Amino acid sequence: MVPKKRIDGIVDSYDKGDLTIATACSHTSLQIFDGARKEGFKTLGITVGQNTKFYDAFPRGKPDEFFKVDSYSELGDRSEELVERNVIIVPHGSFVEYMSPRNFEKLEVPTFGNRRVLDWESDREKERAWLTSAGIEMPKKIEDPKKIDRPVLVKYDGAKGGRGFFIAKDYPDFKLGIDHSQKFSIQEYVLGTRYYVHFFYSPIRQEGYRLRKGVLEFLSVDRRDESNIDEMYKLGAQEELKKLGIFPTFVVTGNIPIVLRESLLPKLLEQGEKVVETSIELFGGMLGPFCLECIVTDSMEIKVFEISSRIVAGTNPFISGSPYSDLIEPGLSTGRRIAQEIVYAKDNDQLKEVLT
Ligand code: AMP
Repeated sequence: MVPKKRIDGIVDSYDKGDLTIATACSHTSLQIFDGARKEGFKTLGITVGQNTKFYDAFPRGKPDEFFKVDSYSELGDRSEELVERNVIIVPHGSFVEYMSPRNFEKLEVPTFGNRRVLDWESDREKERAWLTSAGIEMPKKIEDPKKIDRPVLVKYDGAKGGRGFFIAKDYPDFKLGIDHSQKFSIQEYVLGTRYYVHFFYSPIRQEGYRLRKGVLEFLSVDRRDESNIDEMYKLGAQEELKKLGIFPTFVVTGNIPIVLRESLLPKLLEQGEKVVETSIELFGGMLGPFCLECIVTDSMEIKVFEISSRIVAGTNPFISGSPYSDLIEPGLSTGRRIAQEIVYAKDNDQLKEVLT
């Protein structure tokens, strides 16, 4: 991990009137650039051999300039060029994945958020320890595949978009699907409705839903469209499909905006609060956008199966605001909220509190 002191030194050297927001050209970049521009920042799009022409179709989401590198590992070697431009990196899921968490931790460029969260998020055991110690209910973990006595989901560590995950209902099913070359975990398959809840935690603002330090905001909710499981029912029961060699996959292909039953809002805010408070105790706290990935059962139980501690692609339906963020500020996107936090921190001489 790049020492915090090193990043603080770089932040001290920056011309605060000439900051540039940079991110990788993918995932949530349109709203990050749009939001940064609206808050008065210059914008820089990092590309690795991508075709950037599609930005011409969305001029307000197009960065002022592109920064072309041959590979994400080269980005580390060119960090000085970014520092010369007073760059602040806004990471998103793809950015960290493409760069690799280890290289991302070492990048010597001020980055929005606490990079220490990565350790807790990318290891399923640590993630479970964090969430359960916060009092969050998670799907039950099954240690021994021979003891599978209900539908379970077998997950591979670090698998993005649920790639390779499979459902098993007993041990023979498990044996049929498992790839022993990958680290896996087994959890109960929770039947219910999936909601991906987008929060924003500010350790430096004071108005709103107060935590011990700072405030928690509830910005939006989506449901992922996952191929092919979401459409499988149209072809009949899964058992029948297996006989035909068709297995469910969870590859995200889009996002659908959701409005929740209002009585769920206080419960979810409390869960967000507990997750943040525990993160402060465990590793100095995450900050900025995060997402609790939940399943709500028909008895209104909320089970959280995953946390993402940066901007998620599920916020993309809300570039012009959501039914929740509109009640904070009309038209507020998560991308813009990030830029606002950087402006607020800059104006109050607190940039070092939100950059690592
Ligand atoms: P993840 O990689 O953990 O985000 O999971 C990928 C997808 O698998 C989710 O978006 C859900 O559709 C599904 N999923 C994950 N965990 C569970 C679970 N315990 N029960 C039912 N579905 C799940």
